[in-house]
Amino acid sequence: MTAPDAALGAAIGALASPASAWIYDPSVLAERLARLREALAGHTVLYAMKACANPGMLARAVAEADGIECASGGELEAAAAAGAARLAFSGPAKTAADLAAAAARGAWVHAESLRDLDGLAAAGHTGPVALRVNRGGALPGTHQMTGAPTPFGFDEGAVPAALERALALGLDVAGFHLHAVSNCLDAAAYARHVHGSLAWSHTAARGFTLRYVNVGGGLGADPRGPVIDVGALAEALGRPDTRGAELVFEPGRFLAAPAGWYVAEVLDLKSVRGQAFALVRGGTHHFRLPAAWGYAHPFTVAPGPREEAVWEDVEVRVCGELCTPRDVLNGGQRVASIAVGDRLVFANAGAYGWEISHDRFLGHPGPRQVLI
Ligand SMILES: *Cc1c(COP(=O)(O)O)cnc(C)c1O
Repeated sequence: MTAPDAALGAAIGALASPASAWIYDPSVLAERLARLREALAGHTVLYAMKACANPGMLARAVAEADGIECASGGELEAAAAAGAARLAFSGPAKTAADLAAAAARGAWVHAESLRDLDGLAAAGHTGPVALRVNRGGALPGTHQMTGAPTPFGFDEGAVPAALERALALGLDVAGFHLHAVSNCLDAAAYARHVHGSLAWSHTAARGFTLRYVNVGGGLGADPRGPVIDVGALAEALGRPDTRGAELVFEPGRFLAAPAGWYVAEVLDLKSVRGQAFALVRGGTHHFRLPAAWGYAHPFTVAPGPREEAVWEDVEVRVCGELCTPRDVLNGGQRVASIAVGDRLVFANAGAYGWEISHDRFLGHPGPRQVLI
């Protein structure tokens, strides 16, 4: 477990049995944000709320970031209701209703296609618009949005025509949006992305004054532990060549990952064909990330009352309550001891944990949502 050990331990201990919960500590998000703001001093940091939209986490991000990056009409509503000073809106397949909501809220809209541009004009959007562009090579990370065929943004070659259309429609073109990757752990590569994005934007800005370059999110915080070195990133960034344009970062994962824990109680222990299994109240329908990525999420054991047999020095596979062999949170981790009633604690789970899960499957009761 990490920093807030005592508060976390108390929150875990306070859960009714059989425990099944997401626990968030917004102060951990705030600490990460402060560290990042220091490293990126002078530049703008938005929080990409899709990483973790828990209301307590969102409220803290609203209070301490420069604004909220939204990826749907629903997120726009939630961020506005939470009092976000500034809204940015990205995402493929925007509907007319989404664009109308963005127009009503004066959001910074990242247009992904000609259809978005036409829709913005039809919605009477007078706020700033940036063209999202798929440029440059692929960055190291777990999800590549650019440098390969993806549904996101304009092709680099389509930018002149898109600019022409946006300007002819009377939209307020502010610049470009160049979100490229998720979970990039390589600070030097990320800095090259920023420098490359700025250089490209200066040459691509034709017919309008470049005042906004958004390099997206993607700062790495791997659920297995490694984190991008923001000090090294600051050093490699130096003084980027913005020429007066606002340089915007919009991380989600980096801020949310360490601020969330998934907790699931062991309901049963058994051995089948030589493999020890710990079966928990919960599973991948609450915490889909390990199944989605195909890795074993590390956990610690918070001992329960231990009224049944204690298994010692054993490698357990942690599975959930779903009737599918894919409901695996950890394919095998050695533990000193484990018993029915213990609570397994999965740290570094705050980003894309609960948010991407499919809890409706099988109709089990949902996990509690706890704030510390
Ligand atoms: C998801 C997303 C982000 C945040 O990405 P992280 O990898 O969580 O930092 C930022 N911008 C856009 C457009 C996104 O879709």
